[in-house]
Amino acid sequence: GAACDGPLPVLGRDVTVPLVTGGETVYAALDYAASAPALQRVWDDVAAYAPYYGSVHRGAGYLSQLSTDLFEQSRAAVAAFLDCRPADQVVFTRSTTDSLNLLAAALPAGCRVFVFETEHHASLLPWGDEQVTYLDAPRTPAEAVATLERALADRGPSPSSRLRSGAGGPNGPALVCVTGASNVTGELWPVKELAAAAHAHGARIVLDAAQLAPHHPVSVRGLDVDWVAFSGHKLYAPFGSGVLAGRADWLQQARPYLAGGGASRSVARREDGGVDVAWHTGAARHEAGSPNVIGAYAIASACRALAEAGFDTLVARERRLVARIREGLAAVPGVRVLSLFGDDAPRVGVISFVVEGWNSSHFAAALSAEYGIGVRDGLFCAHPLVRTLLGGAPQEPGACDAPAARRPGERPLNAIRVSFGAGTPDEHVERFLRAV
Ligand code: PMP
Repeated sequence: GAACDGPLPVLGRDVTVPLVTGGETVYAALDYAASAPALQRVWDDVAAYAPYYGSVHRGAGYLSQLSTDLFEQSRAAVAAFLDCRPADQVVFTRSTTDSLNLLAAALPAGCRVFVFETEHHASLLPWGDEQVTYLDAPRTPAEAVATLERALADRGPSPSSRLRSGAGGPNGPALVCVTGASNVTGELWPVKELAAAAHAHGARIVLDAAQLAPHHPVSVRGLDVDWVAFSGHKLYAPFGSGVLAGRADWLQQARPYLAGGGASRSVARREDGGVDVAWHTGAARHEAGSPNVIGAYAIASACRALAEAGFDTLVARERRLVARIREGLAAVPGVRVLSLFGDDAPRVGVISFVVEGWNSSHFAAALSAEYGIGVRDGLFCAHPLVRTLLGGAPQEPGACDAPAARRPGERPLNAIRVSFGAGTPDEHVERFLRAV
């Protein structure tokens, strides 16, 4: 109902910023895909707990025990949020980037990796050159599934597959890494179908849910994915914490991602002068050092807050605002919205576009300076995808997010991205459309 259709309270709602045209305005944060403002509720939870935190796992004191309990409860809250299988592990990391690099470091020997060129660099780059196959950008979700099936069926046996057992079918272990929602187009990927294709060919799949989890329920069991990675700072928690959740076996066979205290159960000098180390099993194996307890607690709080707000309500509201932005942008001559799967493809609140005759960086700067609207411009750490969407824009070394000025008639070098979420008031969307 209408009462449920409003924004959730977030930090920074009342921040005012100066305008070059004189005066000031309330800042409109429309860059949720980069980092979403923390929910007020999460901030309050963290503030209530902050006076009591202590070092986890090692301290004998009361506050250390309290923190240890809350840290482990946070793991359980994340597992519930993701609808994990009972045997899955939730490892706290620094971010999605960290989670995927951790998984990359834990792959079994000879593991092949399949990744679409359309991925965010966090999903595109952690894998070793010799193990990764980049798949061409599909133009429909069905083409994505067909492309993956072909690539998996064609993969030859990996060099060390005969040395391994049980980790990936007749052709040796393989991993597919795929995004749930694009950080450029906001489009939803057919995760369930890609997971089925991966499993049918003896491969495993990790879901990059950095952009999906803040907008849609993610069910590990429902989607049948092997791992999920996401970041707290895009899920309405503060910076510095992330999650890798999923199957324990590969993680347990691997050397710890970070070596140090917390990951080691026992360390002893050997007679030959070296040391013998027995590493922990369980999530602690990959959480060496003093963990970010407040970060984990904040993620768990955000998970609970989103579940309580109800994804049905959040998704319905987001669909309404996406439709409003699409309709508003379509009415402005010269605006082209970027899309891989076509205009009608379902998407989360992430929309990238270019404006004929405008340098995207200047356009974004004007939205900020003249209207107090914060969007992002650039190639959004997904260079191959954005170049494809822009029609083969030239590759410029160092052109990542600071492209050269554009001359009239030239293809755009980069794009503008507007993104929003549970804290966005309708007024911000309307102001953005008026400004465009
Ligand atoms: N994957 C996707 C789809 C993203 O949008 C992002 C962040 N832009 C990342 C991974 C990386 O997240 P983080 O910077 O928090 O590691």
